Amino acid sequence: MRKVSRSSNSVPKPGTRKGAHASGTRRCIACGKFGQKSEFLRIVKTPDGKTEPDPNGKTPGRGAYVCDTQECIGNAVKKGRISGSFKSAVPSELYEKLRNKE
Ligand SMILES: [Zn+2]
Repeated sequence: MRKVSRSSNSVPKPGTRKGAHASGTRRCIACGKFGQKSEFLRIVKTPDGKTEPDPNGKTPGRGAYVCDTQECIGNAVKKGRISGSFKSAVPSELYEKLRNKE
């Protein structure tokens, strides 16, 4: 197998299917940057409807990813991107947990 080593920030084609199985690639819900799963903080909506940070990436449920930076976490919270991504309201404790994370 050949490794394709492109410079980062290759722009994905528009019309790429949302939630496609692009191996390991995730997208920040705040700034839209693509990157490896490990670069992001995962937020999960569990099957029983709880929304929580998932630092280990192991909680089953629907995941959303945000850059692990205060800027992106702040934007995700302020712009309602988390609730937008999950199509449901997000409890304020989640915002507190994310904000207090350093
Ligand atoms: Zn971001």
